[in-house]
Amino acid sequence: MSKRILVTGGAGFIGSHLCRSLLNQGHSVICLDNFYTGSKGNVAELMTSPLFTLLEHDIVCSIDLEVDEIYNLACPASPIHYQSNPIKTLQTSLLGVMNMLTLALAKTAKILHTSTSEVYGDPLVHPQPESYWGNVNPIGLRSCYDEGKRCAETFCFDYQHQYGIDVKVVRIFNTYGPNMHPNDGRVVSNFIIQALNNQAITVYGTGNQTRSFCYVDDLVKGLMAMMNTEKGFAGPVNLGNPGEFTIMELAEKVLWLTRSKSPITYLPLPADDPHQRRPDITLASSKLIWQPVVNLDDGLQETIMYFKNRV
Ligand code: NAD
Ligand code: UDP
Repeated sequence: MSKRILVTGGAGFIGSHLCRSLLNQGHSVICLDNFYTGSKGNVAELMTSPLFTLLEHDIVCSIDLEVDEIYNLACPASPIHYQSNPIKTLQTSLLGVMNMLTLALAKTAKILHTSTSEVYGDPLVHPQPESYWGNVNPIGLRSCYDEGKRCAETFCFDYQHQYGIDVKVVRIFNTYGPNMHPNDGRVVSNFIIQALNNQAITVYGTGNQTRSFCYVDDLVKGLMAMMNTEKGFAGPVNLGNPGEFTIMELAEKVLWLTRSKSPITYLPLPADDPHQRRPDITLASSKLIWQPVVNLDDGLQETIMYFKNRV
């Protein structure tokens, strides 16, 4: 059955892929974005569809729309962008999420909120299961995002408990792919662009810190599977690829795949940068029957192709 689906942050990296997948399933999609880190270019191809509507709006302000489902993705995700205006980041995570929950309540709509592995902070448990409460600095540079997202989760669960709305929470681990903004600042896009331009690859710290990288197509399938779970199942559910790599291993892979001669340069490790991160996806595998299928080399190749056409 065709639904009216709101995707906030729909012109961003993940949102643009999600909008395309929902349109392909025959749904009407309202892509809402304030274009802080997203762009019209990311959804330009979708504009030709009569089922697609692009709406410029900031979720910090309330809005009334007729919708059956809401995917709430609006929030800058890259450290340099969420830290450039931390108060705005907090407002997006708190007032913005509250506005979307209020809309879901008013329209009896389902709402899926995208939380993050950052709720685990610099984790002392490895890999991270959903039951781990995290190790987060509440007053550091990353706090506007980490604590904003943690409180947003609290909002989601309290709206469920208090008003009975059908809420879903996913915790996304590092995701990459086409449509990342060239100035996004996250590690995969930085390294690829640097390698393609034969500029120095900027490794922060020693490069021994680890991350687990999920290709965006896999992630979008996980988001949609979560939305389709039964009422009452709210999660939170980790979504990510459990393959774990050091940042140095990632740099070497990108250099090899691009055949680049870029040197590696070492820059200071940003404050509170997590030392290790890997999702435990046992819950997603059993509940959503979901697991990522794109390996890092293949996903990087696709992403390199995308940036080659733009650099
Ligand atoms: P992105 O920055 O590319 O997309 C975010 C989108 O939200 C952008 O289009 C931006 O313009 C929009 N936006 C920001 N604030 C807004 C506001 N107040 N009102 C309306 N629109 C607003 O980031 P992304 O990687 O696509 O991330 C999407 C979501 O997934 C975010 O909520 C992020 O926290 C979450 N997430 C992403 C990752 C990842 O690795 N990509 C990891 C964990 C969580
Ligand atoms: N990083 C790096 N060089 C860069 C960008 C990031 O070494 O040009 C490191 C960063 O310090 C972190 C990891 O790569 O340890 C992932 O950073 P990113 O900003 O992509 O996401 P995070 O997981 O930190 O939110």
